[in-house]
Amino acid sequence: MFSAACTHLLEGVTLMIHQLVYYSRNTVQGDGRAMLTNMREILAASQRNNSRDGITGFLIFDKTWFIQILEGERAQVTETYNRIAKDTRHSTATIMNVRDVPARLFPNWTMGGAMRTPEVQEVYLQHGFGGPLEPSRLKSDQIVRLALDLQAFEMDRRQGQRLAS
Ligand code: FAD
Repeated sequence: MFSAACTHLLEGVTLMIHQLVYYSRNTVQGDGRAMLTNMREILAASQRNNSRDGITGFLIFDKTWFIQILEGERAQVTETYNRIAKDTRHSTATIMNVRDVPARLFPNWTMGGAMRTPEVQEVYLQHGFGGPLEPSRLKSDQIVRLALDLQAFEMDRRQGQRLAS
């Protein structure tokens, strides 16, 4: 709760959300099943910690790469990224962009995740990604737009499942 003086000072000030986009090399060994098990563990830890820390975002991954968008309060985003960067399940984490944005783009996801499967290939194709992703050649805006469409695809899929049950 802010005091009246504080509220006055905050009038007209837009509280910005800090957004960080990075990519890293996936070092998880094994077949698709082993990878999904690992991903479930990563997403479970992410959802647990991120709901505590006010972090939202999206994680795109395939057998070679992770690309993640983290958004939240600046100190929490930095702390979370520093913890993630030390994780041995990936290597050479490289920040693509950090910026302040007026609002969260993934407000409903303490960490949504989309593995590149044939099911989501159409979304990749809509963004011009027919072949393997090469994150070092991409702009962070391209990643954010892809993640937003993957998020929409996943939400539609879940909605369809709910209607069918
Ligand atoms: P625990 O989950 O209890 O883990 C304890 C320690 O063991 C940690 O150091 C952890 O890194 C390590 N560990 C656990 N399981 C394994 C394993 N199978 N192999 C190797 N080491 C392991 N965390 C977040 O909080 N938010 C995120 O958004 C997030 N995104 C991630 C994205 C990627 C691509 C990766 C690889 C990891 C991500 N993580 C994220 C996990 C993060 O790196 C830490 O593992 C996690 O935050 C630690 O959570 P914890 O303190 O609850 O420890």
